[in-house]
Amino acid sequence: MKALLDRARAFKRHVDFESGEYRKLAEGQYPEALFITCSDSRVIPALITGARPGEIFELRNAGNIVPSYGQHGASGEAATVEYALEVLGVQDIVVCGHSHCGAMGALKSGDDLSALPGVDAWLRLARPHLAPVLDGAIDDPSMPDISQLNVVNQLAALRSYPVARRRLGAGELRLHGWYYEVDTGQVHELDEDGLFRVHAA
Ligand SMILES: [Zn+2]
Repeated sequence: MKALLDRARAFKRHVDFESGEYRKLAEGQYPEALFITCSDSRVIPALITGARPGEIFELRNAGNIVPSYGQHGASGEAATVEYALEVLGVQDIVVCGHSHCGAMGALKSGDDLSALPGVDAWLRLARPHLAPVLDGAIDDPSMPDISQLNVVNQLAALRSYPVARRRLGAGELRLHGWYYEVDTGQVHELDEDGLFRVHAA
């Protein structure tokens, strides 16, 4: 932690806060996209996309899970999605799963999570929709199979939000599914045919 703290204390010295770019941030935020991904420390949205401060609004949790609309009472996920769409007016939402995901690994192996009741309850939101790969439709599903289906499922969950449906219907919102490999940096994009593909830069 000391190195992190030292860098935070020195941060201001390494960034040109006198520049117009940073001063403009005080006037408000106008992010292009809502980026939904896992809390995993190896996935850094700004590093992957090269986003500058103010360019992406982030929602992160274990397994990049979006509860369906109305599924919970208070929900940080619902609040973030609603704010991004209704207030910030983002026109793109990325759901980005990743390789070597601990949350997806726990679902694949059916780990006993009774010692982690919070994790257990959270992952139960994703489990039923992964049944096609977890319960035998595919022999020995790979981790990419599971993580990628999970991304597809969360895109479906986003469509359950009335504001998302309205914006999609009006052609004012695009949904993107990504799968990121933490050890290669490769980004796979969900195509219209339902497959994740690597596109040439
Ligand atoms: Zn993860």
